[in-house]
Amino acid sequence: MIKKILFPTDFSVTAQNAFRHCLLLADKYDADIEILHVIFPEYEALDLPVMAAQATKEKAEAARSVMKTFVEASLAQVQAAHQLAAVPNIKPDIEIGTPGKIICDTARRNNADLIVMGTKGEHNVLERVFGSVTTAVISNAPCNVWVVPEEALFEKIDIIAYATDLMEADPYHIWEVGKILEPFSPIIHCVHVNVNGSVEGAIDFASLGSFFEHHAPSLQINFHPLSGKSVIQALEEFVDTYDVDLLAMYAPRHNWIERAFRKSHTRHMALETHVPLLIIKK
Ligand code: ATP
Ligand code: MN
Repeated sequence: MIKKILFPTDFSVTAQNAFRHCLLLADKYDADIEILHVIFPEYEALDLPVMAAQATKEKAEAARSVMKTFVEASLAQVQAAHQLAAVPNIKPDIEIGTPGKIICDTARRNNADLIVMGTKGEHNVLERVFGSVTTAVISNAPCNVWVVPEEALFEKIDIIAYATDLMEADPYHIWEVGKILEPFSPIIHCVHVNVNGSVEGAIDFASLGSFFEHHAPSLQINFHPLSGKSVIQALEEFVDTYDVDLLAMYAPRHNWIERAFRKSHTRHMALETHVPLLIIKK
């Protein structure tokens, strides 16, 4: 059950778009939102600690008022376009420290069920596609993370692709994904990209279909063993062909997702999806 959503914001346009998604998700799940801005402590430019403390305090005060405007503007936009069941409970939070770490710590401390955040389409620095904060949160979050690309519109969540490597294609995990997304009653396409051409893996994966037909007939779930040169390429094609609204991925500990998003010089490989991603951490 998703009852508490943590929404970290840097007040960018990207975050503004992500917050509209967050409001609609909160509405769907009937969840509360904690909106968090993290400010770096001020110390380098100022040599007197007492002045640094004062500067940080002023930053925090400014952030509080920007946050208020940010929330009001997004709420007005969402309410103009959508019928919300109720205005979700929104609790503001300003913290001081390193954003990636503070976001994960806050989620852990407050038992957040989901982190929703934005990401820019392209990052040139160090071949990263995700920004530094998103990457840190994806790696260390204690809960699932819903990542909203800047161009992603919130329309419908009817068609889900759940990308899994074979070791994680455990029926329990798949069932869990179905549970998380149940309020949307989506069609779930489970995809596994077979890059080494092994036939047994593909057969095992496809056979999960009959397992679900027997054990969870209410889930609308299909299995697609894909083959291709790269996982990313195959996933992108699938997202386009099947008109996918949300791409879910299982990444509890290991960083295959982070790897998948790293762009290589020679091969243009980073996933450049315009659909939101749901990163399953547990
Ligand atoms: P970079 O900072 O690496 O140049 P970026 O700013 O485009 O890249 P991120 O920093 O990863 O990308 O920002 C993506 C999302 O992370 C934002 O939309 C917001 O949700 C969150 N975020 C970033 N900075 C902060 C912050 N200081 N406090 C709270 N949330 C933040
Ligand atoms: Mn940033």
